[in-house]
Amino acid sequence: MKLSVDLSSLHNAVQTMGAEQINFEVSNEVIPIEPIDKQLGEGLEVNFADIEFETGLASYKGRQVLLYIKDHSYNNKIYGVLKDGTQGNRFHIADCQKLDEMRRKGRFERYVVTNKLDGQFAVSGTDNTNNQLIEGETNLSVCQYCLESLNYEKFRAMPRGQQRRMFVTSFKLADFFDTYSSFFKFMPTGVANNSDAGYSKDWDSISRNVRELFNYGCQQCGLDLKNNKRLLHVHHINGVKSDNSTSNLTPLCADCHRKQPDHQHMFIKHEETKIINQLRNEQGLNVKENWQDVYKLADPGMHGVIDLLEKYNVSFPEVGEEIQNDKQEVVAELELAWPLKKVGVAVDKISAIAATSAGWKVYSMRHALGQFEQLASSLR
Ligand SMILES: [Zn+2]
Ligand SMILES: [Zn+2]
Ligand SMILES: [Zn+2]
Repeated sequence: MKLSVDLSSLHNAVQTMGAEQINFEVSNEVIPIEPIDKQLGEGLEVNFADIEFETGLASYKGRQVLLYIKDHSYNNKIYGVLKDGTQGNRFHIADCQKLDEMRRKGRFERYVVTNKLDGQFAVSGTDNTNNQLIEGETNLSVCQYCLESLNYEKFRAMPRGQQRRMFVTSFKLADFFDTYSSFFKFMPTGVANNSDAGYSKDWDSISRNVRELFNYGCQQCGLDLKNNKRLLHVHHINGVKSDNSTSNLTPLCADCHRKQPDHQHMFIKHEETKIINQLRNEQGLNVKENWQDVYKLADPGMHGVIDLLEKYNVSFPEVGEEIQNDKQEVVAELELAWPLKKVGVAVDKISAIAATSAGWKVYSMRHALGQFEQLASSLR
């Protein structure tokens, strides 16, 4: 899809919204790995003010990151933290209550931002008795306020105490980053390029044959991808990538594929889900009879919002709704939309701004979650 955007009216819209003017970049290009990606993989110390939370998720220079305070000098805490990471500083993944408190108190400490996903964190501390610098790696825990602010995996409904602590213990960063991969232009390095592992050498021709055999149709949602063959994957039903027997292979569109059990870390780009959603609309496959259908169709990053919508019992949203301007040009795509009310939730800022200028009331994920009452009441 080509986004045709009249930038002058956009900039006016931005000004009336009171937001700062930003430079847009609309592109499908694969971006080469830059030095920043390498630095983020290792952890990079930055000023808090340079970390962005536009969508609600933490990001640095367009990359999804987590952030934490490396220093554990206070009370010689470092020794205990190296033994047991759960005693250390929490790492943050979103704009949460705790970070907001810090911000209000004017405490802008140095944070380490990283997209290293193995759960091991470089920590340090100065021994108060001999001034020696102690360094090492430990297993820090995720901040519960962050999980709450995103309603990640329906966290808000989870009882406090034991159950939440267990969730924190089993929290996997790679799953988390994968859930929100389409919110970011850049994929974390080291994870995104490992997808070839385990495939046999003749995989390309096997994959082509299977897709041809099934006439380029997704076997889950029924989408015809004859004209978009690269969006049709071939899935190993039993999970063994070297087992290429016919009965083990089935073609799935990229969106159905990423939603298979144990299929994290596929990092499907939002551009791709967008195209799939449009094609589903064109082919009459975008049928929503219950909330489960909405979950299935929508981007996994929106599940936290959908959970609240379902509890509030509002009408089903359209998923992947294209917004046109008065010249009938598509100017934006809203992940969730209620066309009769002209209310929607957008993944990316450019869509949010373009739809706003076309007369819609648009929420980012962050605002939908943070001001849910307001969103819900506008849908009544
Ligand atoms: Zn937090
Ligand atoms: Zn599908
Ligand atoms: Zn698969």
